Amino acid sequence: MELARRARGISPSPTLTIDTRAKEMKAAGANVINFGVGEPDFDTPEHIKEVAVSALQAGMTKYTAVSGIIELRRVIAKKLQDENGLSYKPEEIIVSVGAKHSLYNAFQVLCQEGDEVVLPEPYWVSYLEQIKLCGARPVLVKTTLENGFKLTPDQLRGAITPRSRLLVLNSPSNPTGAVYSRRELEGLADVILTSGIGVISDEIYEKLVYDGEEHVSIASLDPKLKKRTVVINGVSKAYAMTGWRIGYAAAPLRVTKAMTDLQSHSTSNPTSIAQAAAVSALAGDQEALQEMLRKFAERREYILERLTAIDGVQCSRPGGAFYVFPHVGAFWGKQYRGTEMKSGTDLARLLLEERQVALIPGIAFGDDDYIRLSYATDRETIREGLDRIEAVLKELR
Ligand SMILES: *Cc1c(COP(=O)(O)O)cnc(C)c1O
Repeated sequence: MELARRARGISPSPTLTIDTRAKEMKAAGANVINFGVGEPDFDTPEHIKEVAVSALQAGMTKYTAVSGIIELRRVIAKKLQDENGLSYKPEEIIVSVGAKHSLYNAFQVLCQEGDEVVLPEPYWVSYLEQIKLCGARPVLVKTTLENGFKLTPDQLRGAITPRSRLLVLNSPSNPTGAVYSRRELEGLADVILTSGIGVISDEIYEKLVYDGEEHVSIASLDPKLKKRTVVINGVSKAYAMTGWRIGYAAAPLRVTKAMTDLQSHSTSNPTSIAQAAAVSALAGDQEALQEMLRKFAERREYILERLTAIDGVQCSRPGGAFYVFPHVGAFWGKQYRGTEMKSGTDLARLLLEERQVALIPGIAFGDDDYIRLSYATDRETIREGLDRIEAVLKELR
């Protein structure tokens, strides 16, 4: 059977490819240290699980409204108001099968052939593929370690053409952990409003910020900006609920309506009992979240300390999320037992095959002079993994 051109153009997720190989090695008995995963290592808090069990037993086993149960959309509206200063009606909110699905729906209803989407690099790889799936063209704008991996207003202005439709913003960022300050967002907001493009603001890591950093939703800066922004968020990362598949989007009614119509012909509603659990996550006790945040903060200090102590590794201090994104380009041209290292891909392969350490080469995010490590794993694992990485890097010459 012939595959459609659309399908032939999709690249498999490099993150998941490495994860699969690491799991295979583990199943074969290897002592694998996995820095590749993009999800919290914690279990979903007990009180959230209990709500799902009760919902199941109470017979909440039928289709719900396509855009999600009204209780959940009300709780989301209240959260956006209280925490982000954003006023949305429940009709302007749509719950989907994870934030990834919310993003997919948003791109599908907002972009088409001939459109351009400004995407700061390094980027989360699914943005790139989702933009391409609409027939639109991603316009990559390189941010660097020196400028904290943040897009500047000048860079944005320079990337905009008459074909530009959208800017994708992800703060806190996967993979770099960069968090845009209010002032930095204001600078971008001016350019956005003058040019008339829209914004997709992925705020999935909003709760995971450190050093007293403040998460600001760009939509909250100006009512005119809110009219051209789709805010994306979900429960996966903040509440350790990746498997439940609940994400949401808040946007002007016309956009939400189009996303709902699209969803009505693809997945319909996200899982009913997962929606009940999400109500409890957002409206219930937040103590478990605070506890996870404290652990992430400690691990972040430790992993940064270990990485920056290695000669040749340069690493910025991530303000949020649970990743570090060190620059390892200083090692290119050096050899490990006769094999020359030329890229993050080479290094990731070497570390996995020789030392059973899984991490993601920067190419997955557009720049192979870097590697991404997730610190959503316990401290002892981080210590053992860093010992192995350090040993390999010291052997390169
Ligand atoms: C994990 C992640 C998502 C998707 O999360 P869901 O599990 O689909 O809700 C979206 N954006 C970024 C940047 C992520 O890292």
